[in-house]
Amino acid sequence: MSKNFVDTYKLKGLRKKLAEEIARKGEFDYKLIDVIANLPRHFFLDSAFAEKAYHDQAFPIGEGQTISQPYTVAYQTMLLEVKPGEKILEIGTGSGYQAAILASLGAKVYSIERVQKLSDEAKKVLAHLNIIVKTYVGDGTLGLPKQAPFDKIIVTAAAPIIPETLLLQLKVGGYLVIPVGDKETQEMRRITKTGESTFKTQVFDTFRFVPLIGEEGW
Ligand code: SAH
Repeated sequence: MSKNFVDTYKLKGLRKKLAEEIARKGEFDYKLIDVIANLPRHFFLDSAFAEKAYHDQAFPIGEGQTISQPYTVAYQTMLLEVKPGEKILEIGTGSGYQAAILASLGAKVYSIERVQKLSDEAKKVLAHLNIIVKTYVGDGTLGLPKQAPFDKIIVTAAAPIIPETLLLQLKVGGYLVIPVGDKETQEMRRITKTGESTFKTQVFDTFRFVPLIGEEGW
């Protein structure tokens, strides 16, 4: 992927418009809208597609994967109710954009990607932006036992089931935000760990993600 980290007034303007568009589409916190307005999403795509970064659309990032639609990123972030200092695990680093949003909101972010090449690209962008995210390559359905427990866990790929291992790695009071369904459409779910082995599930809108591939995935 070819990257050149150049920002322009034009792209800044498009970014502000995108943030406004997202703000109109949902009840999002102003801090989140502010982060979207300031984080150069085009750095996370091939430089040939800079302007495409500011359409509210998913976009290919190579290896058959996509950067999530900005609205979807905002939606999952809203459900996480991120508070500064929280330890958050992301499954599916992809471009690194979602991880960058969470870190910009003050979270300590750990992110796992199964495709080495994507993780390497994401690391470059995050380093360029001075955004601290701990990245790992591996099967995210197994979580990160050594770094557990987490306040929040976000899965950014389509899961056939709720991976039990991830629930074990949540703190009591923590959330798992995950799209669950078949390969075509998934319901966004938020599972709250209400006690050591008790959970509450809430179901939200329908989305379409690339498949979560792994031991507790497809
Ligand atoms: N959060 C990303 C979205 C990327 S799409 C972004 O902001 O750009 C989902 C990603 O999940 C893909 O890169 C895919 O390779 C990855 N993935 C799928 N199954 C996985 C697994 N079991 N563990 C880690 N990553 C996985």
